[in-house]
Amino acid sequence: MDTFKPLNLQKDTNNNQDIQNIEKVKCLIIGSGPAGYTAAIYASRANLKPVLYTGLQMGGQLTTTTEVDNYPGYPDGITGPKMMEDFKNQAERFGADIRFGIATSVDFSSRKHRVTFDDNKILEADAVIIATGATAKYLGLESEAKYAGMGVSACATCDGFFYKGKDVAVVGGGDTAAEEATYLAGLCRKVYLIVRRDVLRASKVMQDKVLNTANIEILWEHQTVDLYGENGVEGATLIRKKATVEEEIVKIKIDGFFLAIGHNPNSEVFQQYLHTDKVGYIKTVPGTTKTNIAGVFAAGDVQDPNYRQAVTAAGSGCMAAIDAERYLSELK
Ligand SMILES: Cc1cc2nc3c(=O)[nH]c(=O)nc-3n(C[C@H](O)[C@H](O)[C@H](O)COP(=O)(O)OP(=O)(O)OC[C@H]3O[C@@H](n4cnc5c(N)ncnc54)[C@H](O)[C@@H]3O)c2cc1C
Repeated sequence: MDTFKPLNLQKDTNNNQDIQNIEKVKCLIIGSGPAGYTAAIYASRANLKPVLYTGLQMGGQLTTTTEVDNYPGYPDGITGPKMMEDFKNQAERFGADIRFGIATSVDFSSRKHRVTFDDNKILEADAVIIATGATAKYLGLESEAKYAGMGVSACATCDGFFYKGKDVAVVGGGDTAAEEATYLAGLCRKVYLIVRRDVLRASKVMQDKVLNTANIEILWEHQTVDLYGENGVEGATLIRKKATVEEEIVKIKIDGFFLAIGHNPNSEVFQQYLHTDKVGYIKTVPGTTKTNIAGVFAAGDVQDPNYRQAVTAAGSGCMAAIDAERYLSELK
């Protein structure tokens, strides 16, 4: 892992402003999850000499999980950290310049796109690939952290299989929660859907699906206050009708606890320039990774409210590198 060199600030006596030591690159990739590293593999092989900044979470979200069973090419499964190490090694094999640093501001107002890292290092890139991912929302309970990877998950598609034939709970009342509950109902013996209010926010179609699935039980007006268990989640403590005269403590026995209360796309730094949806997912031209700014591309979870899988992130990382290569060749 390379660390960038300290800034060499000089005084411009002509206009009395600091001239920063700006590094010029062809292709800059921001983020080191499956999308960023895949973009780096393709961009290196296309001779774009990419520089990739990892952000705080080197390797991305998968470094927080143990088993990854659904990524093609690993018939025996693999741990998330090992898989991301493989991605990184593959990108480095073709010469990707991988550095530690966080994008703290951007200036996409001209054709030369400027990105500042750690508030003090500026890169000027002809093409920028944003692959900063998304962060799942949690309730903020201490026990969620305690049982992370031991019964607590924010991804039913990723982890549902490990709970085949078991009892689980899903938290949330929107479309994602309804989808995750329905998905898990196809695998698990019983699914509790823990809903804070007395209605679901999910679309009518999704509500109907949930209400017509025999092994989903909706716990209306319930809030989770704790999880318990010896070697992993064995149950959850809930409050029903909190702050009313009917308030009561309810305990459910479960093996898995799935959060489905949304994600925060890591797009804040770019929002001044890039179009996003109301949640903050970067909008791309359908079928491409192009954003509303020419030469700026977005890949992976930061632009994907729907799938949020390693393989789809990697796929769009590949698309972004190809889109960037075509853009750059047209610039010549
Ligand atoms: C616990 C867990 C288990 C999962 N299990 C599976 C699974 O089994 N199978 C599967 O397919 N998917 C799984 N997923 C989903 C999968 O991890 C994501 O879909 C995938 O990682 C998205 O890849 P990405 O490259 O878009 O972003 P991420 O993996 O989120 O990576 C984002 C990267 O951007 C960097 N970054 C963020 N902000 C900045 C910034 N300002 N400057 C510089 N860098 C920045 C971060 O440091 C990070 O390196 C799981 C997710 C979680 C949380």
